[in-house]
Amino acid sequence: MSDTQVTVLAAVQHFLDRQHGLWIDGRQMPSDGDKRLSLYNPATGEVIGSTADASVADVDRAVMSGWRAFVSRTWAGKLPAERERILLRFADLVEQHSEELAQLETLEQGKSIAIARAFEVGCTLNWMRYTAGLTTKIAGKTLDLSIPLPQGARYQAWTRKEPVGVVAGIVPWNFPLMIGMWKVMPALAAGCSIVIKPSETTPLTLLRVAELATEAGIPDGVFNVVTGSGAVCGAALTTHPHIAKVSFTGSTATGKNIARSAADRLTGVTLELGGKNPAIVLKDADPQWVIEGLMTGSFLNQGQVCAASSRIYIEAPLFDTLVSGFEQAVKSLTIGPGMSLQAQINPLVSRAHCDKVQTFLDDARANHAELLSGAAIPDSKGYYVTPTLVVNPDAKLRLTREEVFGPVVNLVRVADGEEALQLANDTEYGLTASVWTQNISKALEYTDRLQAGTVWVNSHTLIDANLPFGGMKQSGTGRDFGPDWLDGWCETKSVCVRY
Ligand code: NAD
Repeated sequence: MSDTQVTVLAAVQHFLDRQHGLWIDGRQMPSDGDKRLSLYNPATGEVIGSTADASVADVDRAVMSGWRAFVSRTWAGKLPAERERILLRFADLVEQHSEELAQLETLEQGKSIAIARAFEVGCTLNWMRYTAGLTTKIAGKTLDLSIPLPQGARYQAWTRKEPVGVVAGIVPWNFPLMIGMWKVMPALAAGCSIVIKPSETTPLTLLRVAELATEAGIPDGVFNVVTGSGAVCGAALTTHPHIAKVSFTGSTATGKNIARSAADRLTGVTLELGGKNPAIVLKDADPQWVIEGLMTGSFLNQGQVCAASSRIYIEAPLFDTLVSGFEQAVKSLTIGPGMSLQAQINPLVSRAHCDKVQTFLDDARANHAELLSGAAIPDSKGYYVTPTLVVNPDAKLRLTREEVFGPVVNLVRVADGEEALQLANDTEYGLTASVWTQNISKALEYTDRLQAGTVWVNSHTLIDANLPFGGMKQSGTGRDFGPDWLDGWCETKSVCVRY
């Protein structure tokens, strides 16, 4: 083992061994209660550490810290170029600690260390630098008045973009660091303060990057982390009177609760919610592209991806070829712990989630669906589910209607593209979709007709910092990413001057 590897392992162990509190006012603080949440390694089921279970009073301390930082303008009042410089330094520090962060992510979330390195940390760095660059592009407009003015009256008018205030970020457990930074970075780039609440299952990496934010020079109180349950800590955060905006990523059910409570104070919300994402494969598609692309689209991170393809509609002439191609592909996958570079399928995040995914499979079996399973799961206490193909399930089955969020995908024979489109759009969700064909006219027509916030052609799950992302229908409201991303974190103020 090299010296660097020894240092990283020691840093990871040291971080796990610490009695984690909350990150408020630029430092670690204990919770005012003594409640703690255990953290588990999904590959073994063993306890690897714990975090504070924040109370309503803890949340209030964090929000008030953010509020004091905001009104004192220690961050919002800096020149945008200065904020950009500090955010780029923050990204450099995250990069320097990338192996430590990747290992923490695999230990608490279960995902492959290769995915943790490339996606969780690698893509996060790309997003961090992209968003830092937006800091210096925040701009209003100069506008001429439209009303007839008295002779000689002279006015100038323009708009300014101002940070909304203290933002609540609430994130799920599937990509804890990356999705966490999708909240932190736009808030900081816009000049807001943020209080972020990671999932109670996976809080470690955000607690670690909060320390790096302070080291980078982000003023105390601008970036706060509270850990704890959704019911107490999350609810207290979203209803706090000093929260100006809630940026939430998680399930549609929780998103609806947050939208309801935000309505009481007219707090702004961005909701990135669940999906039941279709892929349509037309008869002229390239089978190899389809199998490669949709194996990743369906099984990346064990299918615990909001954008994952979970319903594949295949035109009849290609159906048998693709079913046997997918079956061969799932059977060849190796299942094992995230720390093993040989394993392509790893444990799910928690025992509770693993049991929930099994209920979908039990329901399908009870309704005589045809299930084709991948390789056997290891003999261990880890939270494993074998990757599973469900062939031609009934349209009323739970796994056809509801988000499974696991390594399970439906393969459905359709007579033609029209039937596929009708089935693909027959859902309350509208996050992503894809169409697979070599016919450019068909491809363009389907990008129009598929009801989803993102539609890919001959690809699935590619998400980019420069492309707006979000859901139609019950998959959410608002868009993240893209050149206009910070608009959602700013108020527009009109200024009108007579001179
Ligand atoms: P979840 O809704 O159970 O929890 C998400 C977060 O909300 C957690 O931090 C949780 O503690 C908190 N929370 C729960 N109840 C709350 C309440 N009443 N008030 C405030 N906060 C509360 O979701 P999950 O199981 O952690 O994540 C999986 C879900 O996330 C899936 O539905 C998936 O599709 C979705 N997701 C969506 C996107 C997207 O970009 N659209 C990305 C990733 C995940």
